[in-house]
Amino acid sequence: MLQIDQLSYWERDTYFTGNDIVIIGAGIVGLSTAIFIAERFPNRRILIVEQGYLPSGASTKNAGFACFGSPSELEDDLKTISESEVWETFQLRYEGLKALFKLIDRTAIDYNPCGSWDLIQNDAHEIESGFIDYLNHKAQEITGEELIYSEDKQANNNFGFNGFRTSYYNRLEGSLNTGKLIDELYKHAIKKNIKVLYGVKCDSFVEQNDAVELQLNIGLIKTEQLIICSNGFAKELVNEDVIPARGQVLITKEIPNLKVKGTFHFDKGYYYFRNVGNRILLGGGRNINFTQETSNKLEINESIQSVLRSILSEQILPDTPHEIEMSWAGIMGVGQSKEPIIKRYSNRIAIGVRMGGMGVAIGALVGKKLSEQID
Ligand SMILES: Cc1cc2nc3c(=O)[nH]c(=O)nc-3n(C[C@H](O)[C@H](O)[C@H](O)COP(=O)(O)OP(=O)(O)OC[C@H]3O[C@@H](n4cnc5c(N)ncnc54)[C@H](O)[C@@H]3O)c2cc1C
Repeated sequence: MLQIDQLSYWERDTYFTGNDIVIIGAGIVGLSTAIFIAERFPNRRILIVEQGYLPSGASTKNAGFACFGSPSELEDDLKTISESEVWETFQLRYEGLKALFKLIDRTAIDYNPCGSWDLIQNDAHEIESGFIDYLNHKAQEITGEELIYSEDKQANNNFGFNGFRTSYYNRLEGSLNTGKLIDELYKHAIKKNIKVLYGVKCDSFVEQNDAVELQLNIGLIKTEQLIICSNGFAKELVNEDVIPARGQVLITKEIPNLKVKGTFHFDKGYYYFRNVGNRILLGGGRNINFTQETSNKLEINESIQSVLRSILSEQILPDTPHEIEMSWAGIMGVGQSKEPIIKRYSNRIAIGVRMGGMGVAIGALVGKKLSEQID
């Protein structure tokens, strides 16, 4: 690849000289952070470097659920993490979606306020009586919205599923088009004169008194401030509590007269599916083998994909002929805590990583909060 010291004066001057801020990673968080900084400081020179020719973590590979909490996931979280962390994360997701829709026009990203169903499998334990009332009460305190959750015993029959005893409907969740979301953020960034270079990886950096020096795969550059938004890859650059978590996804070919319309989760959020037009997108199963899926390699895990195919044919489309169009993997960033890390790392460096499985919901708000770390 052409190195910076082989470039013309014009190229170096336009992209690499006098940068105020360099951001690593062109996912939802990197792009949103850049946009919010450009709003606060229109004259700052901002460069985003992205290792892939497209974003290569999670932001173009996710399921496009605009969601903030399903009952079985929240019930499980309340057993494993503190109540305050559970509700702070809930609030971050709810407020995050509002921030996203303030930044991006909903219609431009095919937002569909279809609601979501948390499906309870026949052999899953009973959600305790009173838990849905408690959820509605807590959710109303945070959102001001009454009765967000309700039981829907008919989902299994109405959608033609197999093996779900009942379900809990969340009337405020929805879906969006993941590809269009990142494309809209990119267009916003370009309008604000933010430069984005794809295929450029940051291998290391050194903070100096007057600048940060970055070793890129194309040579050395300097910046006044560095912001790390590399999520599941963050450990390669900083020693923080964030590790890669791979997620497997598949999508069917078009299915004539598909009855399934909406977004659905089950098994504490470990499985999720939705319609994309007349197709079904299904993902999850990381809990089958957490160790294998602690990886930042964008590879298919055939044993998990095979479980997804069985779930599709036995539980989601038991009576409907279907074929798989394609499968893929994406990389999230997770850690001990479900909360994202948004902080000033040192004098000239800030970081915004560990978005877990909720970066669509929280990414724009994380970008806003991270931009406020910059002076
Ligand atoms: C399969 C799957 C399904 C999901 N479904 C949903 C969902 O339905 N709803 C939801 O809210 N969330 C979902 N998520 C989570 C969501 O997609 C992520 O939380 C979000 O995209 C994270 O955004 P980000 O910008 O922090 O990270 P990323 O999108 O991963 O962006 C980080 C970028 O940094 C780049 N990078 C890394 N290291 C370097 C380096 N050294 N130099 C240059 N570039 C570098 C990477 O290539 C990457 O593009 C899902 C995730 C996956 C994987």
